[in-house]
Amino acid sequence: MSALVSVDEVVHLTLSGTTRLRARDTPLDDALGCVLAEAVVANEEVPPFANSSMDGFALRSSDTVRAPVALTIIGTALAGRPSSAVVGPGEAIRIMTGAVLPGGADAVCMVERTHLEGANQVVVETPIDVNQFVRAAGGDLRKGTLVFRESTVLGPAHLGVLASLGRPSVSVHPRPRVGVMSTGDELADGPSTLAPGAIRDSNRPTLLGLVRSAGFVAVDLGIVPDDRDALIAALHVGGATCDAVLTSGGVSVGDADLVKEVLAELCGDTMRWLNIAVKPAKPFAFGQLAATNTPVFGLPGNPVSSLVSFELFARPALRQMAGHAALFRPVVRAVADEAFVRETDEKLHVISVVARIDDDGRVHVSSAGAQASHVLSSMARANALALVPDGGGVAAGANVETLLLDADSLGGLSLLLGRAIEVKA
Ligand code: AMP
Ligand code: MG
Repeated sequence: MSALVSVDEVVHLTLSGTTRLRARDTPLDDALGCVLAEAVVANEEVPPFANSSMDGFALRSSDTVRAPVALTIIGTALAGRPSSAVVGPGEAIRIMTGAVLPGGADAVCMVERTHLEGANQVVVETPIDVNQFVRAAGGDLRKGTLVFRESTVLGPAHLGVLASLGRPSVSVHPRPRVGVMSTGDELADGPSTLAPGAIRDSNRPTLLGLVRSAGFVAVDLGIVPDDRDALIAALHVGGATCDAVLTSGGVSVGDADLVKEVLAELCGDTMRWLNIAVKPAKPFAFGQLAATNTPVFGLPGNPVSSLVSFELFARPALRQMAGHAALFRPVVRAVADEAFVRETDEKLHVISVVARIDDDGRVHVSSAGAQASHVLSSMARANALALVPDGGGVAAGANVETLLLDADSLGGLSLLLGRAIEVKA
């Protein structure tokens, strides 16, 4: 391990070392964000019957040609409570939104275009076209038509449509179960007083959060000391209980960096240990545990590095396991609101930035704070990563490719309100 490997090559490595998880029948309740493994065809009509889209009167269009006209009210139809009466010439049925269109009726007059006369007469004030305010059976989905293609990502409205078809469950690629372990003799958990030389484990909460916010199932594999047998045991647990494992620490060139050695032992020929042309997140290991084929991502120990490594190399591969076709975060060409000065070192520099949509409608970025691999607080402030290529850096006002981590926080112009809303404290 000496020559730097490109980011591109490592993305290909992790993508070629992971495969889509086998589809599983999943209750709708648990399928949000999952990827369909079947094509969904409508097995019934939606809506299932012709019904009214207005509160008003169901009638025969032909009766209204010479409106205004008085019709005799012969019944009432409510949503879920159809009227059994049949509308004959000169008759109408009071009808509410969503109620079945009664037999004999071919249109609805909205209540606002009528007035009552006596106890059981309604005057329809204007001529009503056939099918006016009638929602046809199958007007949303016709029985037998393709509703969703395989590989569709299920959002809230997809779940609603599936429910409207009466589907209790659907075949999807399951969310990967992703094990997360921190490695290092110096790591402590919880609020206790720190022993000399100890630090608190921040990678595990970060990585568990990244896994969850990507929509996957996070499995906490705990803190593992820099000990060969302990690492082997923890990786066995990860392999037996998870679809993929993330480790942090122990993949650099220090004396206690045992993770790479243990992975070489457990992964055999599939294990790669790399120096990547990126800063932060240079050291990285990847392989599949021979016993279970479980992919293991050996992320670096520095907190910012492990997060960047997850974003660049683990997240796309985990999305592939989840069945997604779109593997990557959106990258936009943003305006640098300040200079990002750097030296030439053959690496891509990843800068934590605050991105926002400015009045010009473009994304603008500025540094989120000190840029060092141990300064996680800058990353906590950031909502994007500026990708500054090798060279002299980016001048203020110039463009910089920026990977968006959180579109919700970009703010910007509001079509609804004319300008951005100030957030109340
Ligand atoms: P390593 O890659 O194991 O040599 O770790 C690199 C640096 O990251 C060291 O300063 C470690 O103390 C630190 N580090 C490793 N793991 C963690 C963790 N889980 N939380 C916070 N810092 C860590
Ligand atoms: Mg370590």
